[in-house]
Amino acid sequence: MTVVRFDSAVFFDNAAVLDTASGVLARGQRVLVRGEAIAAVGSDLEAPAGARVIDLAGRTLMPGLIDCHAHVNAHTADLAALGDQSPAYVALKAAEEMRAMLHRGFTTVRDPGGADFGLHDAVAEGIVDGPRLYFGGKALSQTGGHVDMRPRGRSVRDEHRCCPDLGVVCDGVDGVRKAAREQLRTGAFHVKIMLSGGVASPTDRVDSTQFSIEEIRAIVEEAEAANRYVAGHAYTARAINRGLAAGVRSIEHGNLLDETSIELFLEHDAFLVPTLVTYQRMSVEGAEYGLPEVSLRKNTLVLDAGIRALEAAHRAGVNLCYGSDLLGGMRRHQLEEFRIRGAVLPAADVIRSATVTAARLLGEEGRLGRIIPGALADLLVVEGDPLEDLAVLTEPEANLKLIMQGGEVKADRLG
Ligand code: ZN
Ligand code: ZN
Repeated sequence: MTVVRFDSAVFFDNAAVLDTASGVLARGQRVLVRGEAIAAVGSDLEAPAGARVIDLAGRTLMPGLIDCHAHVNAHTADLAALGDQSPAYVALKAAEEMRAMLHRGFTTVRDPGGADFGLHDAVAEGIVDGPRLYFGGKALSQTGGHVDMRPRGRSVRDEHRCCPDLGVVCDGVDGVRKAAREQLRTGAFHVKIMLSGGVASPTDRVDSTQFSIEEIRAIVEEAEAANRYVAGHAYTARAINRGLAAGVRSIEHGNLLDETSIELFLEHDAFLVPTLVTYQRMSVEGAEYGLPEVSLRKNTLVLDAGIRALEAAHRAGVNLCYGSDLLGGMRRHQLEEFRIRGAVLPAADVIRSATVTAARLLGEEGRLGRIIPGALADLLVVEGDPLEDLAVLTEPEANLKLIMQGGEVKADRLG
């Protein structure tokens, strides 16, 4: 029998509940939270004896935000430098950033490269305040691929398996299988792989494809055997399509996709995680945060195409998830992706990408991203209506009045 502790009940009165699935704001609602979950939602609920009653005076109550692409370890944009730093130092920097993410309203974050089981456990145990962390461990890359950080003149590679950099280099079907199993055995929620070149790596081309089809299939097979999935970094249609055809479930970035990619997304019910804000910020302040010149040149290749890719994917009905992918001090712009997407897409659809659709990608449908009975009580009290104006979400100091995570109040500025 479950013992209900009345002192752990919170009753939100006079709330405008944002239904993320339908994209509608329902006014005059009451929401009962018991323990870590939402117990009831309705207009005629009564507060149980002993519950803490919070009168929202008509303010918006919405689910906590989910960023599906954020690197908590990347406190510098010079990713090659991370592997040489103290894991303790990087972990403490990550703790600082995770707390900041939570206070921007992100109660859940998926980290596709860097975060490990230690950071996950630290949040879960309440040692640090931060988003629920769906980590992938180290991203897998081929030799010369997106996480191979050696300059051209160096052939020796320190494996850095113990260190806090974002990826691991592996080659050949046996090699990639072993690397995927190594991440999965740590409890990784997904396996992240590099399907194409990238901006922050020193020697690869953005338009390259990476890993052979056989290698990609082997990694997908290992992830699926563990009831997990593969997330693939890719820019061009050629790289995206190879991944989707081989069973990759989410494509990260996808800036240079085309109509053939969109067909494959729909056919496989796959997810696209655009990360437009990172290209915008890298062009403005990347150099200041340590992004090398070679990376800045690559950045311009993907910046403009990204917004067109987002619009085309949205028009076709592709599953879209919110992503930021910011590095170093640029991570303070994590909410700016709302503004960028809101300029071309309906607000309700942008919010869906950071709630319901993101939850589906994480395999947490009905548990995260919605205000319904049985869902975890990850809740935000917001001044203003984000469906009317997404910009209210981008100014948390002014508009984010309360943050609840798993039924626990993490910030309260209701006064
Ligand atoms: Zn990437
Ligand atoms: Zn990334």
